[in-house]
Amino acid sequence: MDNLIQFAYVVSAALFIFGLKQLGSPATARRGNMISSTGMLLAIVAALLDQGIVEYQWIVAGIIVGGAIGAAAARMVQMTAMPEMVALFNGFGGMASLLVGAAALSPGADTFTLVTIVLSILIGGLTFTGSLVAYGKLSEKISSAAVLFSGQQVVNSIIVAAILGSAVMFCMNPDNTLWLFLVIALSLVFGVMAVIPIGGADMPVVISLLNSYSGLAACAAGFAVDNNILIVAGSLVGASGIILTQIMCKAMNRSLSNVLFSGFGSGKTEATEVEGEIKPISVEDAFYVLEAASSVAIIPGYGMAVAQAQHVVKELMELLEHNGAEVNFGIHPVAGRMPGHMNVLLAEADVPYDQLLEMDDINPRMETVDVAIVIGANDVVNPAAREVESSPIYGMPVINVDSARTVFVLKRSMASGFAGIENPLFYKDNTRMLFGDAKESIGGLVREFS
Ligand code: NDP
Repeated sequence: MDNLIQFAYVVSAALFIFGLKQLGSPATARRGNMISSTGMLLAIVAALLDQGIVEYQWIVAGIIVGGAIGAAAARMVQMTAMPEMVALFNGFGGMASLLVGAAALSPGADTFTLVTIVLSILIGGLTFTGSLVAYGKLSEKISSAAVLFSGQQVVNSIIVAAILGSAVMFCMNPDNTLWLFLVIALSLVFGVMAVIPIGGADMPVVISLLNSYSGLAACAAGFAVDNNILIVAGSLVGASGIILTQIMCKAMNRSLSNVLFSGFGSGKTEATEVEGEIKPISVEDAFYVLEAASSVAIIPGYGMAVAQAQHVVKELMELLEHNGAEVNFGIHPVAGRMPGHMNVLLAEADVPYDQLLEMDDINPRMETVDVAIVIGANDVVNPAAREVESSPIYGMPVINVDSARTVFVLKRSMASGFAGIENPLFYKDNTRMLFGDAKESIGGLVREFS
């Protein structure tokens, strides 16, 4: 039986890896998801048959209660609240590893097991509270700005030293659970302290890093309970999270340590001197310009998710193409509120993948674009990142929509984006503001065309 279980684990691990590979392209992502899910089902069944299982009642109760809450939450969540939900799920993954690690403590445990228990508790605990803070920032229940105070790094260093001290004491005296409780409490505090100094446009890095931590916590828990598939699955999540973190750092042109320790835009005064004036445009006038355009770039951002405008955007795309224009989408890696947010929305509306161009592919073409339509994007098209050295986002690569002949910005007001900074794009000579909900504005354009 044990051999069969280990074999099932190897098959699941292979399915995870195949699934991950297929997730690399939108065309195969659905299949990849199915393959990975099948791997997970197999892993769970094999784990349930493992001899280590003592009682099934609690497991069945957990599956029913957890499954019901998860299914209800996934059904009820607004599409726009998906990023927050992903952050919460991530946090619960960390908490699960913390609990598994704590439950793995048994009399006579060897030092290696004790160390892995401490690691699963430490990483799981900080992932839990860190993700709760990320949830608060993403849902704007708390300010998304970085929270900085003097002596912050000293306080954090003291917490880390206290965690290490308690962890060593616990490994030396595993019977005295006080040390373990100290590790738990300090890890939970450290999660909050590690995430509050990160805010604004740096949040994508935190999200992907916490994602990676949840995998590492699961990996440590796998060692603590001696379960191979948990080790493999945890490592895969940990490694892919780190790769995503790298991609996000590159997208922001920042180093990881700079994001983690310096605070978003710290030391930079937001002194964006905006020149020019706001020039609103009506749907009818925007239609006349679009009708004459032979090349159109659509740049979506978080506002497209809020407005749920992806389907009507697809309709507009088809009408423009029917009218003889070439239409491409420019996707910024951190547009929206979660990695891949725009790709998910546009895939839902069946926009062909080959029309979704990454920032580095669309930017060189921007000068030849007649009209760039910015749909609810703000930070990711902010030219201050290139032009204003004192801007907190200075140096971050953005989509250079201002190089297009005409730019339409679709948003409801002059409000700033997630980073909370002024956007000089709105005042440029070639920019026209089409105020209103994006779905309604684009619906209006679609009606004009048809
Ligand atoms: P922004 O948050 O910069 O801007 C979104 C804009 O959408 C707002 O200015 C808002 O203006 C507009 N908007 C909101 N609702 C509507 C609506 N119904 N119709 C039309 N417009 C609307 O979005 P971006 O995508 O440009 O940038 C993403 C930001 O989020 C970056 O700062 C990024 O770092 C951060 N972030 C990204 C994460 C990720 O993983 N992708 C995770 C966490 C943060 P108005 O209110 O006037 O309508």
